[in-house]
Amino acid sequence: MTTVKHMKWWGWGVEGVAFHHEDKPDFAPFVQKVVDLDVNIPPVGAMDLAELSVPAARIPGDLVAELTEVVGADHVASDDLDRIVHTYGKSLRDLVRLRAKDIPRIPDVVVYPGDEAEVQQIVDKAVAADAVIIPFGGGSNIAGSLEAPPEETRPVISLDMGRMNKVLDIDEESGLARIQAGALGPDIEEQLGRRGWTLGHFPDSFTHSTLGGWIATRSSGMQSDKYGDIADITRGLHAVLPGKVLVLRPLPSTSTGPSVREMILGSEGRLGVITEATVNVHRIPTERLILGYLFPSWEAGIAAMQEISTSDAHPTVTRISDSYETAFSFATRKKSSGISKLVNETVMKVLQKRGWNLDDICLSFIGYEGGRADVSRQKAMVKDVVGKHGGIVAGKGPGQLYDQKKFDTPYIRDFLLDRHAVGDVSETAAPWSKLIPLYNAVRAAANDAFDKIGVKGWIMCHMSHSYHSGACLYFTFAYKHGEDEVLAQYDIVKGAIQQAFVDNGGTLSHHHGVGVEHAPWMEQDISAAGVHFIDGLFSAVDPGQNFNPGKVV
Ligand code: FAD
Repeated sequence: MTTVKHMKWWGWGVEGVAFHHEDKPDFAPFVQKVVDLDVNIPPVGAMDLAELSVPAARIPGDLVAELTEVVGADHVASDDLDRIVHTYGKSLRDLVRLRAKDIPRIPDVVVYPGDEAEVQQIVDKAVAADAVIIPFGGGSNIAGSLEAPPEETRPVISLDMGRMNKVLDIDEESGLARIQAGALGPDIEEQLGRRGWTLGHFPDSFTHSTLGGWIATRSSGMQSDKYGDIADITRGLHAVLPGKVLVLRPLPSTSTGPSVREMILGSEGRLGVITEATVNVHRIPTERLILGYLFPSWEAGIAAMQEISTSDAHPTVTRISDSYETAFSFATRKKSSGISKLVNETVMKVLQKRGWNLDDICLSFIGYEGGRADVSRQKAMVKDVVGKHGGIVAGKGPGQLYDQKKFDTPYIRDFLLDRHAVGDVSETAAPWSKLIPLYNAVRAAANDAFDKIGVKGWIMCHMSHSYHSGACLYFTFAYKHGEDEVLAQYDIVKGAIQQAFVDNGGTLSHHHGVGVEHAPWMEQDISAAGVHFIDGLFSAVDPGQNFNPGKVV
């Protein structure tokens, strides 16, 4: 049996870990107030795999025998659990469908290759048999990037990269590391860290997503302001295609025509199987610090973030929550945490005296890394900018709390679903000049959608990932869902938010990719000619549509 570990089949993260509210006294009243949900109602009980009626595998025995010959019997799985784990990613739609026992087309077999040569043989045998190959990293995507088309009649092979999890080599002189594509975030940081290096790529899904998945979805991490998005970090790569390996050597820059590297980035498994990548790595910094700041309004905070992004400060994280997300953060604090000091009455009285409306307060986190002197210099520069925009430094407490909580927050989605409520996210990026109008338009569109489906809804936002010309806005929304029409309601809310993105100068997604979830907005995002380019690329490289068909366009 394979030793590759997966997330729980029905939700986020590892078995036995869940979001709890009992130690957060303000959480239940907050949720009651904003979405009219009593979180103390009895939650839906744990799901039992035996309740699912798993469709029989539709794959010829001789193809399974050939795949088994390549990887060995321990690395081929066709049991229900393995097949279900590989059916979907972790989008809200995926979780709702699993809970509804809706699994129209699931992989027929899961194969775990051990190296690039095995991937090549699997790909060749699968394409010769006209099977579908769906590369699987950590299964954490939230864009519908893994599911086989429901009408697919060919055999479907999920190619799980989990055994290929090694840092192969570090070129210390160049700051480059060669890493196998199936390595999860912790695998990478642990192996690099032993030699004093870091990749610096920390998506919220870090613990359960892989290098290959990051590249295939154009991922972005919380420290990408300093280290770059995965598209910047990835310098070279290997991808297996039928009968050949695409080899892109690691180069700092090149002018060799349209970038093939960029074509693989965001390809979501449609252009072959990425087996390894050579990525920029950095010496682990001596100092690492995240500080909290408070701003009197969203507009003031955004203006400060823009000014910081063009200053000489170069923080690793620049993030600000709107007043709604700030209220949520305060509601999820533990009783005796550092953040409670921050919001104590004294601070609030001082802010009120300064003329702040307490309902408009926006909490910001700014991260610094480097040598001690460099971090001090950056902090001083940021403090000046923050002050200029009316903000104040709130200190280390909130930053430490953010740092500790960042990988736990995703568990809230399952907690809400267990209580008949939806909590989900949509994110975009837009030029600075369009950011505030886009934010207002998205809020209005979401609130209209909540009215349309007749629920008391909640939408909140933070800005993260600053660039020269703009930034990412990340929205989280929640509401109590109806009994039978969970996905019909969700389509209305999610669709309204996505439409507001493209109508107001934003992209359909800054870092979650396209999959099938966002594909309806591709033409509006990149124009009909852009879709034609991508279509042509996919058809030329994969004329038989064997690689993860139906994703992106
Ligand atoms: P998978 O989900 O397994 O696959 C995603 C796509 O990539 C599929 O199309 C698959 O076929 C393809 N693929 C995977 N491996 C390969 C390979 N080796 N070769 C070719 N194609 C491959 N994303 C961010 O960028 N930043 C975040 O902060 C972030 N936070 C998240 C938080 C939560 C709670 C969740 C659920 C998701 C989050 N995501 C985030 C989205 C998700 O983690 C990313 O899309 C991630 O890059 C997916 O990686 P994965 O290894 O899980 O890929």
